[in-house]
Amino acid sequence: MKAVIITIGDELLIGQTVDTNSAWMGAEMSKIGFDIIKKISINDKREDILELLGEIVGKVDVALITGGLGPTSDDITKPTLCEFFGTSLELNPEVLEMVVQTISLRDYPLTELNKKQAEVPKSCQVIKNAVGTAPGMWFEKDNTIFVFMPGVPMEMEHLMASYVLPKLRTIFNNSTIIHKNLMLYGIPESILAERLADFETNLPKELKLAYLPSSGVIKLRLTGRGDNNRYIENLINEKVAELYSIIPQYIFAEDEESMEITIGKLLVARNKTIGTAESCTGGNISTLITSVPGSSKYFKGSIVAYDNSIKTGLLGVNENLLTKFGAVSQQVVEAMAIGARRELKVDYAIATSGVAGPSGGTESKPVGTVWIAVSSEKRTVSQKLRLSADRKNNITRSSLSAINLAIKEIKL
Ligand code: AMP
Ligand code: MG
Repeated sequence: MKAVIITIGDELLIGQTVDTNSAWMGAEMSKIGFDIIKKISINDKREDILELLGEIVGKVDVALITGGLGPTSDDITKPTLCEFFGTSLELNPEVLEMVVQTISLRDYPLTELNKKQAEVPKSCQVIKNAVGTAPGMWFEKDNTIFVFMPGVPMEMEHLMASYVLPKLRTIFNNSTIIHKNLMLYGIPESILAERLADFETNLPKELKLAYLPSSGVIKLRLTGRGDNNRYIENLINEKVAELYSIIPQYIFAEDEESMEITIGKLLVARNKTIGTAESCTGGNISTLITSVPGSSKYFKGSIVAYDNSIKTGLLGVNENLLTKFGAVSQQVVEAMAIGARRELKVDYAIATSGVAGPSGGTESKPVGTVWIAVSSEKRTVSQKLRLSADRKNNITRSSLSAINLAIKEIKL
């Protein structure tokens, strides 16, 4: 089941409008089992559109096309597709009625241009648009289904959800596609790929593995395709279990769950609280944790201990430790975590201290040197990170590494 997605409009090519339609359509089509083999953005030019339609007809099962259906002169999709499908425009009374209704709701006068929107190619099946004035159009030619929809994202999504996706599902109902995601942290993509080389070569032909990294978090996606839903589901479950046995220490969650959601769930389940003492992350860990609705159940607060006087004054870090080892040290970060646990009266305290950069590094503590610690009733653990020279990236990575360390401690 092959599909292509085409987005029409000069504005997409010059970066004035970001093409969000194709991402949305790609996700939805993939969920119902289609292979999206191409996404193409093309200008509002008759000859180019005709050439493209000619290239794909008969080669794919479905082509979804958005844009260019507006009533203005730059929107030339409708006459162009009449030419391609060898038909002509006619006024459709039902569509006109809908356009009249939509316009009257908005309290605008009906213009000649609005009436033009009720003109549709004779040979197509009209898809009613309840949220706008341009209808969708469904054609079939040489075993390819062509669906034309307006470019306005809300209108396209409405037509897809109310008509196009359900209809495609009934026409192509013999295939299934299942995605399963594991969320990983603490291992570079290249090393992970080496660790999973055998796993990957031994995957059954129905399954595919994809690595999707972003800011240190790697989403590992297993995709299964086939005719038998049950069989594919079992294969995926089997392989997920295998991944848990190969790389258990790096998996923090499943199904695109973020680390801040994971830690919240773990704390709620154990009825525990958390707080932070943040130097180089400047409160970013608290921001992440409190971005989750309901975090007031487990997050108590934070001490942003940027200056040494706050580390000693509010967290009770011994002055001697700072003089002897410096603020960016194992001794100080552990003392910060212990102090935060005591002062904030929490079960788990996270602490960070590092050189975020771009300046401020020394020979023994270059930019990107960060210490993180987690303290609990059980123990206090710490870890040294060697990050980059990029301040923003260092703050993000330090925050995620610290939350990840806390997740491991909570799970103990
Ligand atoms: P059109 O159907 O070409 O008249 O497009 C109407 C409006 O929808 C445009 O002004 C854009 O703002 C928006 N639009 C068109 N195509 C896309 C697309 N692929 N992704 C997101 N927005 C779009
Ligand atoms: Mg347009």
